[in-house]
Amino acid sequence: VRARVMEVEQKPDVGYEDIGGIDAQMEEVRETVELPLESPEMFDDVGIDAPSGVLLHGPPGTGKTMLAKAVANQTDATFIRMAGSELVHKFIGEGAKLVRDLFELARQYQPAVIFIDEIDAIAAKRTDSKTSGDAEVQRTMMQLLSEMDGFEERGDISIIAATNRFDMLDRAILRPGRFDRLIEVPKPDAEGRELIFEIHTRDMNVADEVDFAELADIATTASGAEIKAVCTEAGMFAIRDDRTEVRTEDFEQAWEKIDHEDDAEDGEVS
Ligand code: ATP
Repeated sequence: VRARVMEVEQKPDVGYEDIGGIDAQMEEVRETVELPLESPEMFDDVGIDAPSGVLLHGPPGTGKTMLAKAVANQTDATFIRMAGSELVHKFIGEGAKLVRDLFELARQYQPAVIFIDEIDAIAAKRTDSKTSGDAEVQRTMMQLLSEMDGFEERGDISIIAATNRFDMLDRAILRPGRFDRLIEVPKPDAEGRELIFEIHTRDMNVADEVDFAELADIATTASGAEIKAVCTEAGMFAIRDDRTEVRTEDFEQAWEKIDHEDDAEDGEVS
C-alpha cells in the first residue's frame, strides 16, 4: 500500500528510447498527447476540440506507465499519477474530493499529464464488480467525468488512463469527449523482446557470447517488466558465482526462476 495517494514527478526520467517493442502505440500516444500540449492554439485556430482522454489497455508490465511518463518528459509536462484503487473504500465524498484535488494540482502545475492507473477500480461495469455497485465509487467516477467535461484549458492538461481489464469497463467512460482514444498495449513479440533485453542490459557487463535474439526465443511469454526482472536476476546469478560478467547461462537460469514465480502466483489466484 502506497502512503502517498498522488505521485508527482516534475521531470520523469523515462524517454522514448527506453521503451521497446511498442512503436505503433508510442506513435499514437505522441500524436494524441504531444500536439495538444505543445500547440493547444492549433486546435483553437482550426476550431476542433483536442482529444480528451487516452485509454491504454493491455496485460500488466507492458509499458503503459512508461509511455505516459515519456510523453510527459518529452513535453516538459509534470507527471501526476493516481491509482483508481486508491480512490475506493474511502469515506463519503472523499473519493470525489481526491479527484477534484488531482485536477487542481494539475492546473497548478500545467502543462501536466494526469495518469490514472487501474481505472477499472472506479469504472467497472455495474454487474461485474462488487465495488462499482457502491454508490460512493459511482460518485467518484462521475466527478472524474465532470472534471473531464468541464475542461476549459484542456490543452495544457492531458489525461491518460490505464487498465489491465478492458472488458470490465463501463462503456459510458468510452463515449466521445471522454476516454475516446483507445490504445492496446500488448505483450512484446520476439523482436520486441530482443529490443527490451538490449535496453535493460545497456549498463550491464554482458559477455560477448550473449545473444539477445536467442534469449527472446526462450522467454516467449515475458512482458517488458519480466524481461527487466530477468536482467537484474541474471546479474545476481553472476554475483553469487563471484563473476562481474553476465553470461547466457545466468539469463537462462534467471528466466527459469522468474517464469516459475509467475506460475506460483497464477496458481494462487486460481
Ligand atoms: P501495470 O499494468 O502493471 O501498471 P505497465 O504496463 O504500466 O504495468 P510499466 O509500469 O510501464 O508497466 O512497466 C514496468 C517496468 O517494466 C518499466 O519500468 C520497465 O522497466 C519495464 N518495461 C515494461 N514494458 C517495457 C517496454 N515495452 N520496454 C522496456 N521496458 C519495459
